[in-house]
Amino acid sequence: MFDKILVANRGEIALRVIRAAREMGIASVAVHSTADADAMHVRMADESVCIGPPPSSESYLSIPSIIAACEVTGAQAIHPGYGFLSENANFVQIVEDHGLTFIGPSAEHIRIMGDKITAKDTMKALGVPCVPGSEGGVANLKMAQTLCDAIGFPVIVKATAGGGGRGMKVARDASELERAFLTARSEAKAAFGNDEVYIEKYLQKPRHIEIQVFGDGKGRAVHLGERDCSLQRRHQKVLEEAPGPSITEEERARIGTICAEACANIHYRGAGTIEFLYENGEFYFIEMNTRLQVEHPVTEAIFGVDLVQEQIRVAEGLPMSFTQEDLVINGHAIEVRINAEKLPDFAPRPGTITQFHAPGGLGVRMDSALYDGYRIPPHYDSLIAKLIVHGKDRPAALNRLARALGELIVDGVDTTVPLFHALLQEEDIQRGDYNIHWLERWLETNLRA
Ligand code: ADP
Repeated sequence: MFDKILVANRGEIALRVIRAAREMGIASVAVHSTADADAMHVRMADESVCIGPPPSSESYLSIPSIIAACEVTGAQAIHPGYGFLSENANFVQIVEDHGLTFIGPSAEHIRIMGDKITAKDTMKALGVPCVPGSEGGVANLKMAQTLCDAIGFPVIVKATAGGGGRGMKVARDASELERAFLTARSEAKAAFGNDEVYIEKYLQKPRHIEIQVFGDGKGRAVHLGERDCSLQRRHQKVLEEAPGPSITEEERARIGTICAEACANIHYRGAGTIEFLYENGEFYFIEMNTRLQVEHPVTEAIFGVDLVQEQIRVAEGLPMSFTQEDLVINGHAIEVRINAEKLPDFAPRPGTITQFHAPGGLGVRMDSALYDGYRIPPHYDSLIAKLIVHGKDRPAALNRLARALGELIVDGVDTTVPLFHALLQEEDIQRGDYNIHWLERWLETNLRA
Protein backbone atom coordinates (compact mmCIF):
# COMPACT_ATOMS: atom_id res chain seq x y z
CA MET A 1 0.00 0.00 0.00
CA PHE A 2 1.11 3.56 -0.68
CA ASP A 3 1.56 5.72 2.42
CA LYS A 4 1.92 8.95 0.52
CA ILE A 5 1.20 10.14 -3.00
CA LEU A 6 2.07 13.35 -4.81
CA VAL A 7 -0.55 15.15 -6.86
CA ALA A 8 1.06 16.76 -9.91
CA ASN A 9 -1.78 19.17 -10.59
CA ARG A 10 -3.78 22.10 -9.20
CA GLY A 11 -7.35 23.34 -8.83
CA GLU A 12 -10.40 21.15 -8.44
CA ILE A 13 -8.75 17.99 -9.79
CA ALA A 14 -5.93 18.20 -7.25
CA LEU A 15 -8.57 18.42 -4.49
CA ARG A 16 -10.42 15.49 -6.04
CA VAL A 17 -7.31 13.29 -5.75
CA ILE A 18 -6.37 14.52 -2.26
CA ARG A 19 -9.88 13.66 -1.03
CA ALA A 20 -9.77 10.17 -2.56
CA ALA A 21 -6.37 9.50 -1.01
CA ARG A 22 -7.41 10.70 2.45
CA GLU A 23 -10.38 8.35 2.52
CA MET A 24 -7.98 5.50 1.75
CA GLY A 25 -5.67 6.53 4.59
CA ILE A 26 -3.01 7.77 2.17
CA ALA A 27 -1.23 11.07 2.86
CA SER A 28 -0.99 13.58 0.02
CA VAL A 29 1.64 16.02 -1.19
CA ALA A 30 0.51 19.07 -3.14
CA VAL A 31 2.88 20.82 -5.53
CA HIS A 32 2.32 24.42 -6.49
CA SER A 33 3.72 27.38 -8.35
CA THR A 34 4.38 30.67 -6.56
CA ALA A 35 1.08 31.95 -8.03
CA ASP A 36 -0.77 29.15 -6.21
CA ALA A 37 0.76 29.52 -2.73
CA ASP A 38 -2.73 30.31 -1.32
CA ALA A 39 -4.58 27.74 -3.40
CA MET A 40 -7.06 25.34 -1.83
CA HIS A 41 -5.17 22.22 -2.94
CA VAL A 42 -2.14 23.45 -1.00
CA ARG A 43 -4.28 24.02 2.11
CA MET A 44 -6.01 20.67 1.88
CA ALA A 45 -2.99 18.44 1.28
CA ASP A 46 -0.97 16.99 4.14
CA GLU A 47 2.22 18.59 2.80
CA SER A 48 3.11 20.96 0.00
CA VAL A 49 6.15 21.82 -2.07
CA CYS A 50 6.65 24.94 -4.18
CA ILE A 51 7.97 23.78 -7.56
CA GLY A 52 8.53 27.00 -9.45
CA PRO A 53 7.30 30.31 -10.83
CA PRO A 54 3.80 30.92 -12.28
CA PRO A 55 4.25 29.73 -15.89
CA SER A 56 3.26 26.05 -16.07
CA SER A 57 6.29 25.30 -18.24
CA GLU A 58 8.46 26.14 -15.21
CA SER A 59 6.27 24.57 -12.51
CA TYR A 60 3.43 22.10 -13.19
CA LEU A 61 5.24 20.85 -16.32
CA SER A 62 8.71 20.80 -14.76
CA ILE A 63 9.56 17.11 -14.52
CA PRO A 64 12.79 17.52 -12.48
CA SER A 65 10.98 19.69 -9.89
CA ILE A 66 8.17 17.16 -9.51
CA ILE A 67 10.55 14.21 -9.15
CA ALA A 68 12.57 16.21 -6.61
CA ALA A 69 9.36 16.97 -4.67
CA CYS A 70 8.72 13.21 -4.43
CA GLU A 71 12.23 12.62 -3.20
CA VAL A 72 12.13 15.26 -0.46
CA THR A 73 8.69 14.23 0.81
CA GLY A 74 9.02 10.47 0.40
CA ALA A 75 5.94 10.21 -1.85
CA GLN A 76 5.85 6.79 -3.53
CA ALA A 77 3.48 7.51 -6.39
CA ILE A 78 2.29 10.38 -8.57
CA HIS A 79 -1.26 11.11 -9.66
CA PRO A 80 -1.18 13.46 -12.68
CA GLY A 81 -4.87 14.55 -12.74
CA TYR A 82 -5.82 15.68 -16.26
CA GLY A 83 -3.94 18.09 -18.54
CA PHE A 84 -0.34 19.04 -17.65
CA LEU A 85 1.79 15.83 -17.59
CA SER A 86 -1.08 13.35 -17.57
CA GLU A 87 -0.53 12.12 -21.14
CA ASN A 88 3.23 12.57 -21.37
CA ALA A 89 4.82 9.16 -21.99
CA ASN A 90 8.30 10.54 -21.38
CA PHE A 91 7.23 11.71 -17.91
CA VAL A 92 5.85 8.27 -17.07
CA GLN A 93 9.14 6.70 -18.11
CA ILE A 94 11.14 9.08 -15.91
CA VAL A 95 8.80 8.49 -12.94
CA GLU A 96 9.32 4.72 -13.27
CA ASP A 97 13.06 5.08 -13.78
CA HIS A 98 13.16 6.79 -10.37
CA GLY A 99 11.45 3.83 -8.73
CA LEU A 100 8.18 5.73 -8.31
CA THR A 101 4.71 4.61 -9.42
CA PHE A 102 2.71 6.52 -12.02
CA ILE A 103 -1.01 6.35 -11.20
CA GLY A 104 -2.19 5.79 -14.75
CA PRO A 105 -1.49 3.66 -17.81
CA SER A 106 1.90 2.47 -19.07
CA ALA A 107 4.17 4.81 -21.03
CA GLU A 108 3.69 2.57 -24.06
CA HIS A 109 -0.12 2.90 -24.06
CA ILE A 110 0.11 6.66 -23.63
CA ARG A 111 2.55 6.83 -26.57
CA ILE A 112 0.35 4.70 -28.84
CA MET A 113 -2.80 6.72 -28.14
CA GLY A 114 -0.98 10.07 -28.32
CA ASP A 115 -0.29 9.54 -32.00
CA LYS A 116 -3.69 9.62 -33.66
CA ILE A 117 -2.81 7.49 -36.67
CA THR A 118 -1.22 4.77 -34.52
CA ALA A 119 -4.20 4.99 -32.15
CA LYS A 120 -6.66 4.54 -35.00
CA ASP A 121 -4.69 1.64 -36.52
CA THR A 122 -4.48 -0.04 -33.11
CA MET A 123 -8.19 0.38 -32.44
CA LYS A 124 -9.15 -0.82 -35.89
CA ALA A 125 -7.06 -3.96 -35.41
CA LEU A 126 -8.84 -4.51 -32.07
CA GLY A 127 -12.24 -4.41 -33.76
CA VAL A 128 -13.25 -0.87 -32.78
CA PRO A 129 -15.24 0.92 -35.55
CA CYS A 130 -13.45 3.99 -36.99
CA VAL A 131 -14.37 6.95 -39.23
CA PRO A 132 -13.67 6.05 -42.87
CA GLY A 133 -10.57 7.83 -44.14
CA SER A 134 -6.93 7.60 -45.08
CA GLU A 135 -4.81 4.62 -44.11
CA GLY A 136 -2.16 6.49 -42.16
CA GLY A 137 -0.75 9.90 -43.05
CA VAL A 138 -1.45 11.79 -46.25
CA ALA A 139 1.87 13.08 -47.60
CA ASN A 140 0.78 15.39 -50.40
CA LEU A 141 -2.14 17.08 -52.09
CA LYS A 142 -2.27 14.54 -54.91
CA MET A 143 -2.75 11.69 -52.41
CA ALA A 144 -5.40 13.76 -50.64
CA GLN A 145 -7.31 14.32 -53.87
CA THR A 146 -7.27 10.64 -54.84
CA LEU A 147 -8.47 9.64 -51.39
CA CYS A 148 -11.27 12.22 -51.28
CA ASP A 149 -12.52 11.12 -54.71
CA ALA A 150 -12.88 7.68 -53.19
CA ILE A 151 -14.52 8.54 -49.82
CA GLY A 152 -16.47 11.61 -50.99
CA PHE A 153 -16.85 15.10 -49.51
CA PRO A 154 -17.08 16.68 -46.99
CA VAL A 155 -13.80 15.63 -45.34
CA ILE A 156 -11.78 16.78 -42.35
CA VAL A 157 -7.99 17.09 -42.44
CA LYS A 158 -6.54 16.38 -38.99
CA ALA A 159 -3.09 16.59 -37.40
CA THR A 160 -1.58 13.25 -36.37
CA ALA A 161 -0.15 14.91 -33.28
CA GLY A 162 -3.38 16.88 -32.70
CA GLY A 163 -5.10 17.82 -29.48
CA GLY A 164 -7.30 20.58 -28.08
CA GLY A 165 -9.12 20.92 -31.39
CA ARG A 166 -6.09 22.42 -33.16
CA GLY A 167 -4.82 21.48 -36.61
CA MET A 168 -8.24 20.44 -37.96
CA LYS A 169 -9.74 21.81 -41.18
CA VAL A 170 -12.94 20.87 -43.02
CA ALA A 171 -13.20 20.78 -46.83
CA ARG A 172 -16.84 20.79 -47.98
CA ASP A 173 -15.96 20.04 -51.62
CA ALA A 174 -13.00 19.51 -53.98
CA SER A 175 -12.42 23.26 -54.37
CA GLU A 176 -11.75 23.61 -50.63
CA LEU A 177 -9.38 20.69 -50.33
CA GLU A 178 -6.08 22.39 -51.20
CA ARG A 179 -6.62 25.18 -48.72
CA ALA A 180 -7.81 22.85 -45.94
CA PHE A 181 -4.89 20.49 -46.51
CA LEU A 182 -2.24 23.22 -46.50
CA THR A 183 -3.69 25.14 -43.54
CA ALA A 184 -4.09 22.02 -41.40
CA ARG A 185 -0.47 21.11 -42.19
CA SER A 186 0.93 24.52 -41.30
CA GLU A 187 -1.21 24.75 -38.14
CA ALA A 188 -0.03 21.30 -37.10
CA LYS A 189 3.59 22.27 -37.70
CA ALA A 190 3.19 25.46 -35.64
CA ALA A 191 1.25 23.86 -32.77
CA PHE A 192 2.92 20.43 -32.49
CA GLY A 193 6.17 20.70 -34.47
CA ASN A 194 4.93 17.86 -36.69
CA ASP A 195 3.09 18.57 -39.94
CA GLU A 196 1.79 15.06 -40.59
CA VAL A 197 -1.95 15.02 -41.29
CA TYR A 198 -4.58 12.41 -42.08
CA ILE A 199 -8.02 12.66 -43.61
CA GLU A 200 -11.42 11.47 -42.43
CA LYS A 201 -14.93 11.65 -43.75
CA TYR A 202 -16.55 14.67 -42.07
CA LEU A 203 -19.68 13.60 -40.22
CA GLN A 204 -22.36 16.28 -40.45
CA LYS A 205 -24.58 15.89 -37.40
CA PRO A 206 -22.86 13.53 -34.99
CA ARG A 207 -23.09 13.40 -31.24
CA HIS A 208 -19.91 13.07 -29.18
CA ILE A 209 -20.27 9.85 -27.23
CA GLU A 210 -17.39 8.54 -25.14
CA ILE A 211 -17.03 5.24 -23.36
CA GLN A 212 -15.38 5.10 -19.93
CA VAL A 213 -13.12 2.08 -19.67
CA PHE A 214 -11.11 0.71 -16.78
CA GLY A 215 -8.44 -1.98 -16.78
CA ASP A 216 -6.33 -3.71 -14.14
CA GLY A 217 -3.23 -3.86 -16.39
CA LYS A 218 -3.27 -7.65 -16.24
CA GLY A 219 -5.86 -8.44 -18.87
CA ARG A 220 -9.12 -7.64 -17.11
CA ALA A 221 -11.13 -4.62 -18.23
CA VAL A 222 -14.67 -3.27 -17.89
CA HIS A 223 -16.66 -0.42 -19.38
CA LEU A 224 -18.73 2.09 -17.43
CA GLY A 225 -21.12 3.08 -20.17
CA GLU A 226 -21.08 6.33 -22.08
CA ARG A 227 -21.11 10.07 -21.56
CA ASP A 228 -22.70 12.39 -24.07
CA CYS A 229 -20.45 15.45 -24.44
CA SER A 230 -21.99 16.91 -27.57
CA LEU A 231 -22.50 20.39 -26.14
CA GLN A 232 -19.22 21.93 -27.22
CA ARG A 233 -17.83 25.34 -28.04
CA ARG A 234 -14.73 25.37 -30.24
CA HIS A 235 -14.41 21.60 -29.69
CA GLN A 236 -14.32 22.18 -25.91
CA LYS A 237 -16.94 20.43 -23.79
CA VAL A 238 -19.36 22.65 -21.86
CA LEU A 239 -21.92 20.21 -20.41
CA GLU A 240 -21.74 16.43 -20.12
CA GLU A 241 -24.33 13.84 -19.18
CA ALA A 242 -24.64 10.13 -18.52
CA PRO A 243 -26.26 8.01 -19.71
CA GLY A 244 -26.46 9.50 -23.22
CA PRO A 245 -30.05 10.52 -24.00
CA SER A 246 -29.85 8.92 -27.46
CA ILE A 247 -28.16 5.63 -26.55
CA THR A 248 -30.12 2.42 -26.03
CA GLU A 249 -29.20 -0.35 -23.63
CA GLU A 250 -28.32 -2.62 -26.56
CA GLU A 251 -26.04 -0.01 -28.15
CA ARG A 252 -24.31 0.60 -24.81
CA ALA A 253 -23.72 -3.11 -24.30
CA ARG A 254 -22.45 -3.56 -27.86
CA ILE A 255 -19.99 -0.65 -28.02
CA GLY A 256 -19.08 -0.98 -24.33
CA THR A 257 -18.14 -4.62 -24.78
CA ILE A 258 -16.02 -3.84 -27.85
CA CYS A 259 -14.14 -1.16 -25.85
CA ALA A 260 -13.68 -3.30 -22.74
CA GLU A 261 -12.38 -6.20 -24.84
CA ALA A 262 -9.96 -3.91 -26.69
CA CYS A 263 -8.57 -2.71 -23.33
CA ALA A 264 -8.37 -6.22 -21.89
CA ASN A 265 -6.50 -7.30 -24.99
CA ILE A 266 -3.74 -4.72 -24.66
CA HIS A 267 -3.63 -5.08 -20.83
CA TYR A 268 -4.62 -1.46 -20.36
CA ARG A 269 -4.18 -0.18 -16.79
CA GLY A 270 -6.38 2.35 -15.05
CA ALA A 271 -8.98 4.78 -16.37
CA GLY A 272 -9.34 5.58 -20.04
CA THR A 273 -11.88 7.12 -22.36
CA ILE A 274 -12.56 5.97 -25.88
CA GLU A 275 -14.16 8.82 -27.81
CA PHE A 276 -16.61 8.31 -30.66
CA LEU A 277 -18.71 10.34 -32.99
CA TYR A 278 -22.17 8.79 -33.17
CA GLU A 279 -24.43 9.26 -36.17
CA ASN A 280 -27.41 7.27 -37.50
CA GLY A 281 -26.91 4.50 -34.97
CA GLU A 282 -23.20 4.01 -35.79
CA PHE A 283 -20.15 4.67 -33.62
CA TYR A 284 -16.91 6.01 -35.15
CA PHE A 285 -13.74 6.05 -33.03
CA ILE A 286 -11.89 9.39 -33.01
CA GLU A 287 -9.40 9.15 -30.16
CA MET A 288 -8.55 7.63 -26.80
CA ASN A 289 -7.65 9.68 -23.73
CA THR A 290 -5.34 7.74 -21.45
CA ARG A 291 -6.27 9.55 -18.24
CA LEU A 292 -9.08 10.62 -15.95
CA GLN A 293 -11.42 13.05 -17.75
CA VAL A 294 -12.79 16.34 -16.44
CA GLU A 295 -16.30 14.88 -16.80
CA HIS A 296 -15.64 11.61 -14.90
CA PRO A 297 -18.02 12.55 -12.02
CA VAL A 298 -21.18 11.91 -14.09
CA THR A 299 -20.05 8.31 -14.52
CA GLU A 300 -19.22 8.05 -10.81
CA ALA A 301 -22.71 9.32 -9.97
CA ILE A 302 -24.67 6.80 -12.02
CA PHE A 303 -22.50 3.81 -11.12
CA GLY A 304 -21.75 4.73 -7.51
CA VAL A 305 -17.99 4.19 -7.88
CA ASP A 306 -14.89 6.26 -7.08
CA LEU A 307 -12.72 6.22 -10.19
CA VAL A 308 -9.76 7.94 -8.51
CA GLN A 309 -9.64 5.41 -5.67
CA GLU A 310 -9.89 2.70 -8.29
CA GLN A 311 -6.93 4.21 -10.18
CA ILE A 312 -4.91 4.16 -6.96
CA ARG A 313 -5.90 0.53 -6.26
CA VAL A 314 -4.79 -0.81 -9.62
CA ALA A 315 -1.59 1.29 -9.52
CA GLU A 316 -0.79 -0.60 -6.31
CA GLY A 317 -1.30 -3.85 -8.19
CA LEU A 318 -4.63 -4.66 -6.48
CA PRO A 319 -7.55 -6.06 -8.46
CA MET A 320 -10.41 -3.77 -9.47
CA SER A 321 -13.13 -3.59 -6.83
CA PHE A 322 -15.95 -4.23 -9.35
CA THR A 323 -16.78 -6.60 -12.18
CA GLN A 324 -18.83 -5.79 -15.28
CA GLU A 325 -21.89 -7.40 -13.64
CA ASP A 326 -21.57 -5.10 -10.60
CA LEU A 327 -21.83 -2.02 -12.80
CA VAL A 328 -25.51 -1.17 -12.98
CA ILE A 329 -26.73 2.29 -13.98
CA ASN A 330 -28.75 4.17 -11.40
CA GLY A 331 -30.49 7.35 -12.60
CA HIS A 332 -29.06 10.21 -14.62
CA ALA A 333 -26.24 12.72 -14.01
CA ILE A 334 -25.31 16.04 -15.60
CA GLU A 335 -22.16 18.14 -15.18
CA VAL A 336 -21.72 21.78 -16.13
CA ARG A 337 -18.30 23.39 -16.40
CA ILE A 338 -18.21 26.75 -14.70
CA ASN A 339 -15.46 28.94 -16.11
CA ALA A 340 -14.29 32.40 -15.06
CA GLU A 341 -15.17 33.87 -18.43
CA LYS A 342 -17.27 36.73 -19.69
CA LEU A 343 -20.06 36.10 -22.17
CA PRO A 344 -20.65 36.44 -25.06
CA ASP A 345 -16.98 36.06 -26.02
CA PHE A 346 -15.94 33.65 -23.26
CA ALA A 347 -12.99 35.94 -22.54
CA PRO A 348 -11.06 34.70 -19.45
CA ARG A 349 -11.78 36.79 -16.36
CA PRO A 350 -9.35 36.00 -13.58
CA GLY A 351 -9.93 38.09 -10.45
CA THR A 352 -10.79 37.93 -6.77
CA ILE A 353 -13.79 35.96 -5.50
CA THR A 354 -15.61 38.31 -3.12
CA GLN A 355 -18.30 35.81 -2.17
CA PHE A 356 -18.66 32.10 -2.77
CA HIS A 357 -21.48 29.81 -1.79
CA ALA A 358 -21.67 26.24 -3.09
CA PRO A 359 -25.07 24.64 -3.68
CA GLY A 360 -25.89 21.49 -1.73
CA GLY A 361 -28.65 19.06 -0.93
CA LEU A 362 -29.56 15.64 -2.25
CA GLY A 363 -27.83 14.64 -5.47
CA VAL A 364 -25.62 17.74 -5.75
CA ARG A 365 -21.82 17.60 -5.97
CA MET A 366 -19.63 20.64 -6.34
CA ASP A 367 -16.00 20.03 -7.34
CA SER A 368 -14.27 23.36 -6.97
CA ALA A 369 -11.19 24.93 -5.42
CA LEU A 370 -12.87 28.29 -4.79
CA TYR A 371 -13.22 30.06 -1.44
CA ASP A 372 -14.14 33.55 -0.25
CA GLY A 373 -11.30 35.93 -1.06
CA TYR A 374 -9.56 33.51 -3.45
CA ARG A 375 -7.56 35.25 -6.17
CA ILE A 376 -7.83 33.31 -9.44
CA PRO A 377 -4.37 33.49 -11.01
CA PRO A 378 -4.31 34.50 -14.70
CA HIS A 379 -1.81 31.81 -15.70
CA TYR A 380 -3.99 28.71 -15.95
CA ASP A 381 -7.20 27.24 -17.32
CA SER A 382 -10.37 29.22 -16.62
CA LEU A 383 -12.33 26.23 -15.21
CA ILE A 384 -13.18 27.19 -11.61
CA ALA A 385 -15.88 24.71 -10.68
CA LYS A 386 -17.81 21.68 -11.84
CA LEU A 387 -21.38 21.31 -10.70
CA ILE A 388 -22.65 17.75 -10.93
CA VAL A 389 -26.23 16.71 -10.26
CA HIS A 390 -27.72 13.26 -10.02
CA GLY A 391 -31.42 12.40 -10.19
CA LYS A 392 -33.62 9.37 -10.64
CA ASP A 393 -34.02 10.18 -14.34
CA ARG A 394 -33.11 12.91 -16.83
CA PRO A 395 -36.02 15.27 -16.06
CA ALA A 396 -35.24 15.01 -12.33
CA ALA A 397 -31.55 15.75 -13.00
CA LEU A 398 -32.47 18.81 -15.10
CA ASN A 399 -34.74 20.15 -12.35
CA ARG A 400 -32.00 19.56 -9.81
CA LEU A 401 -29.48 21.37 -12.00
CA ALA A 402 -31.75 24.43 -12.24
CA ARG A 403 -32.29 24.37 -8.49
CA ALA A 404 -28.57 24.00 -7.71
CA LEU A 405 -27.52 26.73 -10.16
CA GLY A 406 -30.01 28.99 -8.40
CA GLU A 407 -28.26 28.42 -5.06
CA LEU A 408 -24.75 28.99 -6.37
CA ILE A 409 -23.09 32.30 -5.57
CA VAL A 410 -19.79 33.26 -7.23
CA ASP A 411 -19.26 37.01 -6.88
CA GLY A 412 -16.29 39.09 -7.98
CA VAL A 413 -15.69 37.58 -11.41
CA ASP A 414 -17.79 36.88 -14.50
CA THR A 415 -18.68 33.21 -14.98
CA THR A 416 -20.42 30.99 -17.51
CA VAL A 417 -23.32 30.34 -15.08
CA PRO A 418 -25.79 32.55 -17.05
CA LEU A 419 -25.20 30.33 -20.09
CA PHE A 420 -26.52 27.30 -18.21
CA HIS A 421 -29.58 29.15 -16.89
CA ALA A 422 -30.39 30.04 -20.51
CA LEU A 423 -29.68 26.55 -21.90
CA LEU A 424 -32.03 24.96 -19.37
CA GLN A 425 -34.89 26.96 -20.93
CA GLU A 426 -34.30 25.42 -24.36
CA GLU A 427 -36.65 22.69 -25.52
CA ASP A 428 -33.88 20.87 -27.41
CA ILE A 429 -31.87 20.64 -24.20
CA GLN A 430 -34.90 19.49 -22.23
CA ARG A 431 -35.52 16.79 -24.84
CA GLY A 432 -31.83 15.87 -25.11
CA ASP A 433 -31.97 16.61 -28.82
CA TYR A 434 -28.62 18.15 -29.76
CA ASN A 435 -25.45 17.33 -31.70
CA ILE A 436 -21.89 18.67 -31.71
CA HIS A 437 -22.89 21.79 -33.70
CA TRP A 438 -25.98 22.72 -31.68
CA LEU A 439 -24.27 24.98 -29.14
CA GLU A 440 -22.22 26.99 -31.67
CA ARG A 441 -25.40 27.73 -33.64
CA TRP A 442 -27.34 28.58 -30.50
CA LEU A 443 -24.58 30.95 -29.35
CA GLU A 444 -24.60 32.72 -32.70
CA THR A 445 -28.32 33.41 -32.61
CA ASN A 446 -28.77 33.99 -28.90
CA LEU A 447 -25.64 35.65 -27.58
CA ARG A 448 -24.66 37.77 -30.57
CA ALA A 449 -28.12 39.30 -30.91
P1 ADP B 1 -8.75 16.85 -30.42
O1 ADP B 1 -7.84 15.79 -29.89
O2 ADP B 1 -8.00 18.01 -31.02
O3 ADP B 1 -9.80 17.26 -29.43
P2 ADP B 1 -10.61 15.03 -31.82
O4 ADP B 1 -10.18 14.06 -32.86
O5 ADP B 1 -10.96 14.49 -30.48
O6 ADP B 1 -9.50 16.19 -31.70
O7 ADP B 1 -11.83 15.87 -32.37
C1 ADP B 1 -12.37 16.95 -31.63
C2 ADP B 1 -13.73 17.33 -32.19
O8 ADP B 1 -13.64 17.65 -33.59
C3 ADP B 1 -14.78 16.23 -32.12
O9 ADP B 1 -15.42 16.15 -30.84
C4 ADP B 1 -15.73 16.70 -33.21
O10 ADP B 1 -16.48 17.80 -32.72
C5 ADP B 1 -14.80 17.23 -34.30
N1 ADP B 1 -14.42 16.16 -35.27
C6 ADP B 1 -13.30 15.40 -35.26
N2 ADP B 1 -13.30 14.49 -36.27
C7 ADP B 1 -14.47 14.67 -36.94
C8 ADP B 1 -15.09 14.03 -38.11
N3 ADP B 1 -14.51 13.03 -38.77
N4 ADP B 1 -16.30 14.50 -38.49
C9 ADP B 1 -16.91 15.52 -37.83
N5 ADP B 1 -16.39 16.15 -36.77
C10 ADP B 1 -15.18 15.75 -36.31
